[in-house]
Amino acid sequence: MMVTTMEMLSIRTENKFRTLVTKQAYKKGEMICPIPSENMVDKPNRFTVQIGKDRHTHVGKLAALNHSCDPNVILDTERMFMMARRDIAKGEELSFFYPATEWEMQAPFICLCGSANCIHVVAGARFLPLSTLEMHYLSPHIREMMIELLNNTELHLKKLQEA
Ligand SMILES: [Zn+2]
Repeated sequence: MMVTTMEMLSIRTENKFRTLVTKQAYKKGEMICPIPSENMVDKPNRFTVQIGKDRHTHVGKLAALNHSCDPNVILDTERMFMMARRDIAKGEELSFFYPATEWEMQAPFICLCGSANCIHVVAGARFLPLSTLEMHYLSPHIREMMIELLNNTELHLKKLQEA
């Protein structure tokens, strides 16, 4: 029987490095668990996931999810569910693409995931080219903020030309 709760996820700690591991297998597209939404804040921290322009939710156990440039889960911030991006085996570590939800991260870092599409500097969607973002599932607020940024840039360029 499929269980869509966090009960099937466990946190593993090795040398103070936390990973989130699944105790059951999932098929691509399957729901894994809801994203907690009881505790919202207006600024990001390392325990939050961004779900709107100025909305960040404390995600509890899911804060142990590491970033990957070739992730196996998606955080669907519209339906507030974590989904399998591909088939996932029992015992596998879960990871997601941070810039899919995070516009500007509080604590950027260097990615060493080793994937062919590695973005190297993980600082949020606003620092990535569209061509990179387009390869990933993006939350609606990220798409909106990207369009806003592009429109502002265009407006700024127009003003420079008119001056
Ligand atoms: Zn990477």
